[in-house]
Amino acid sequence: MDRIIQYLESSKNILLASHVHPDGDAIGSLLALGLSLSKLGKFTTLYNESSVDSYHFLPYIKRIVDHWDESVNYDTAIILDCGNMERTGEAASKIARIPVVINIDHHLTNTGFGDLKIVDSSASSSSEIVYRLIKKMGIPIDKAVATAIYTGIFTDTGSFRFSNTNQAAFGICEELVSIGVVPHQIAYHIYGTHSLGHLKLLNLSLDSLEISQNGLLSMMIVTSDMFDKTGSDSNDSGELINFAKSINGIKVAVLIQELQNTGENSKSSSQFHISLRSNGGVDVADIASSFGGGGHFAAAGFDVESTLTDLKDYFYKLAKSL
Ligand code: 5GP
Ligand code: MN
Repeated sequence: MDRIIQYLESSKNILLASHVHPDGDAIGSLLALGLSLSKLGKFTTLYNESSVDSYHFLPYIKRIVDHWDESVNYDTAIILDCGNMERTGEAASKIARIPVVINIDHHLTNTGFGDLKIVDSSASSSSEIVYRLIKKMGIPIDKAVATAIYTGIFTDTGSFRFSNTNQAAFGICEELVSIGVVPHQIAYHIYGTHSLGHLKLLNLSLDSLEISQNGLLSMMIVTSDMFDKTGSDSNDSGELINFAKSINGIKVAVLIQELQNTGENSKSSSQFHISLRSNGGVDVADIASSFGGGGHFAAAGFDVESTLTDLKDYFYKLAKSL
């Protein structure tokens, strides 16, 4: 951390980026560090390839852009909440050409990319690491930065329910509340408001639930047809897997999301995002890594081109080994 602080003191133009299809931690850590470095007089660009509309309530969310001015000579890239560089999306190779790349992350499967890094898989969230960095740099935390960090910790711990909920999460959040964060307002924006499409998608996805014969693995399927029918998109599917995980006796929950329908029926191949959750005992990051993805012990994911039939066969076979 000291080397990063020393380096940042002399940097001028900084591009900060987090992962595609961002969650609250990807957005929170990006905003918190970007806003804080701006206060030091740095030129900062906060980049995310995907839509950040679900987090419209966060102060300065409009600072996050999906393109940048090619004429700016960035000396530094800071990559947040990404297990590998490719998680930043299509601009990954362009970002990698920035002279100094700093990797700040808490994923178990982080590849250790970059010139400087803080990778701490015991941290609840990347936002927790960003909090420590901002504090150590002596940058005062205002309400906007506090709200961003709180949102990152709150969402990545599943509102303090998941196994990554640690003492630091509570300690930091207590301080953030004293700075002006109003927990019930953030909880309302994250969990208390849904589009009609979101609820209709929940209905269809609950209907799709299947359980392996031994009762140890649950599977939920969201097809692109279901997104179309309900007028929803992948921004609406973030919490669905927790229902699959909550079924009694389940060790591993799987959410199969069809991102792009490249074929006509379940026999033709499509692009899928697979989310995996474990109730302890099974390392799902290991399973995701074998498909080129990654994540944490209890929450991981990967993208794959396959058929629904092949994917289901794979997971039912996996269930037998649990
Ligand atoms: P989700 O299933 O909600 O997309 O992701 C669960 C966890 O796995 C998150 O921490 C996320 O960053 C990570 N993850 C999801 N997809 C990928 C992937 O394709 N590659 C890597 N390295 N991590 C992923
Ligand atoms: Mn995270």
